[in-house]
Amino acid sequence: MIRSATIHLLLFVTIMASCQASPRMNAPKPDNIMSNATNPAKPYYSRTDTTRLTLSDEEWKKVLSPDLYAVARHGETERAFTGKYWNYEGLGTYYCSACGNALFRSDAKFASTCGWPSFFETMRPKSVIYRDDTTYGMVRTEVLCGRCDAHLGHLFDDGPPPTGKRFCMNSISLEFEGDKK
Ligand code: FE
Repeated sequence: MIRSATIHLLLFVTIMASCQASPRMNAPKPDNIMSNATNPAKPYYSRTDTTRLTLSDEEWKKVLSPDLYAVARHGETERAFTGKYWNYEGLGTYYCSACGNALFRSDAKFASTCGWPSFFETMRPKSVIYRDDTTYGMVRTEVLCGRCDAHLGHLFDDGPPPTGKRFCMNSISLEFEGDKK
């Protein structure tokens, strides 16, 4: 059990460490990316209200899917190359899937080899907040939603110009809506 966990951790660290920007790939364009601007099943969800949300863990557990709850509220990481946005190239906006807060524009997204959607800047300075993360024997910067504190991913310094930053996000923490034509 411990050996299996160690192998898994080593694999994760290796992938994260080798994750660098690369030329944009000819990625498949999924046709199942749905707009989800309003959803009555998400009572705290809003794309216009930027008031900070301070819900209990118990309340979040009620309103989020089990997979999103594990990532957003307990910092789990989805497996690389499994999320719906890691190689998605649609033009539009990425919102926090837990609360609807606007996070990233597609023109700040770049193709990376890491298997998670990666951006070089946020949509607004207050779109996200940061926290030191020293888990797994690493010193990293955790990125959380600026409205609801949901765990989104981590920030690295190996991104492309103009910022040199790489916001390495979990797809499940994001919700994409395409630009209106
Ligand atoms: Fe949020």
